[in-house]
Amino acid sequence: MSASAKLAQRIFRAEVLGMHAYAVPDARGMVKFDAMENPYALPEALRAKLAARLAEVALNRYPVPSYAELIAALRAGMEIPAAASVILGNGSDELISMLSVACAKPGAVMLAPLPGFVMYKMSAELAGCRFVGVPLTPQFQLDATAMRAAIAEHKPAVVYVAYPNNPTGALFDDADVARLIAAAPATLFVIDEAYQPFAGKTWMGRLGEFPNLAVMRTVSKLGLAGLRLGLLAGPPELVSELDKVRPPYNVNVLTEAAAVLLLEDKAVLDEQAALLRAERETLRAELAALPGVEVFASDANFLLLRVPGAAAAFQGLRQRGVLVKNVSTMHELLAGCLRVTVGTPEENRRFLDAFQQALQD
Ligand SMILES: *Cc1c(COP(=O)(O)O)cnc(C)c1O
Repeated sequence: MSASAKLAQRIFRAEVLGMHAYAVPDARGMVKFDAMENPYALPEALRAKLAARLAEVALNRYPVPSYAELIAALRAGMEIPAAASVILGNGSDELISMLSVACAKPGAVMLAPLPGFVMYKMSAELAGCRFVGVPLTPQFQLDATAMRAAIAEHKPAVVYVAYPNNPTGALFDDADVARLIAAAPATLFVIDEAYQPFAGKTWMGRLGEFPNLAVMRTVSKLGLAGLRLGLLAGPPELVSELDKVRPPYNVNVLTEAAAVLLLEDKAVLDEQAALLRAERETLRAELAALPGVEVFASDANFLLLRVPGAAAAFQGLRQRGVLVKNVSTMHELLAGCLRVTVGTPEENRRFLDAFQQALQD
């Protein structure tokens, strides 16, 4: 072992040494259907406006840590109730990480339904919290009885509910979620609305109903994944404590300036989301018509499907230049499942052609 490798073994925690780095496959030249990115570029005029605005940004200055202008723009664009406080993250990934760090008392538990977003578990365990996953029903709805029992047993600090859920795609039943929140006042419920632009439903307007509810949003799936900007809205008494964990300059000045400008033209992004919602239904119908393929309902910009020989279908797609996500070994409920981002009509056509060929390999 090299001296540096020995040093790594000595100084890093066993949890870190035992982890795998978050793997991002090389997708150059491929149809990129693995990460729920919006495939559309910004209109030329808006890009020019953005370039001019970014040229004005004082890169020699630190961001102003209150982020007042950006938060005001987000409040307006995302209809955040005035009574809620807002904390920003460098993507929602950073907010999840801050929550884990802030809650990591000895024995603290973070809980989420499974299959779910991998960062909840990864972030909890990295911070030294215990993660408890509660299986969904085979139709990927919340198992309300199991959730209630697990919350009573483990008394989690935080329950994450992705709404719609990733990688399954659908919204959970509102009444199920509301009953869980009301029944567990000693737990903070974080509703993760990363896919809200494609769902048409939100908990944002219900923040005032529950003292233990926060709503997380991101601009990533809306079409600005590269900016890295997320937010959590919730009761001021909770947000002000969480804010102590936030690195003071966590959102950079270029992201701030770009987001303020683009939120003024949010209609452009909302129109792209509407196109993708329509495309999702077209793609869903075409996939459902393929023999042996099961497609699940989705309120997001991706579709989950089950197919015989998922691993071979994944490879067959890859050989034909289409990268999807093979989630078939992520959880037993996902056996045989692939997750496919919805793209432009041309990309969706390329995917469908490649998929039909891959199924015949
Ligand atoms: C993609 C995704 C996010 C987004 O994270 P960012 O760090 O904001 O890009 C958050 N939650 C879920 C469930 C997601 O699928």
